[in-house]
Amino acid sequence: MGSPKCPVCSASVRTENLSKHLQSVHPREAKPEMVLEAERKATQTVRPPPPRSFSASLPRNVIIVVLILALLAGGAWVVATSPAYSPYNANTPVLQMCMQESPGFARHDHVLLSITITGVPQQVPMNIGVAPGCMRPVHTHDTTGRIHVESSVAHEFTLADFFAVWNQPFSKERILGYTTDTSHTIVFRVDGLQNTQFEQWPFPHNTNPDDPPKVAISYETR
Ligand SMILES: [Zn+2]
Ligand SMILES: [Zn+2]
Repeated sequence: MGSPKCPVCSASVRTENLSKHLQSVHPREAKPEMVLEAERKATQTVRPPPPRSFSASLPRNVIIVVLILALLAGGAWVVATSPAYSPYNANTPVLQMCMQESPGFARHDHVLLSITITGVPQQVPMNIGVAPGCMRPVHTHDTTGRIHVESSVAHEFTLADFFAVWNQPFSKERILGYTTDTSHTIVFRVDGLQNTQFEQWPFPHNTNPDDPPKVAISYETR
């Protein structure tokens, strides 16, 4: 920006000094419009108006609404990620529960299940209870028979819950497609010991992932 010249004497005068120059050097020649114009230019040069900030360009109530939404979203995030929060409780039926791996589980237990039909081992499918967007708290990940009990809330589960998730029958009279009769029975064992709880058997807590309890369901001849 080159130095402007005084409109009266043509001397080079800095913009911010022109108004003073006109008033002190040419008090008679300087017209009021000249002084005003010089002052206007001086203000523009010395203090250009600040660009309108983002917040200044928005109506105040828009800002308030955005702030409230941000607070609500923040609160929802805190609630959703808090281990204390869950839409489920200890009495929620297993088929109404979908688990998330985070923020963590109130319990995480394992059991190894084997099923034998007249001496023939049956494969327990992988991904029982695992569907896109919903993992039941009792499920499998592989075909080893390992049942995972992973619940975000304190909750008791029994083998009946696992078979409900699997959508297969299990009782002292039925396993998979087999029913007891005069020549066949079902024997239920936990860690090798015969057990009469069958589907009522509760998944134990604090199991050792390297050596989980072993439950065996055997349909065999009497
Ligand atoms: Zn697990
Ligand atoms: Zn799992």
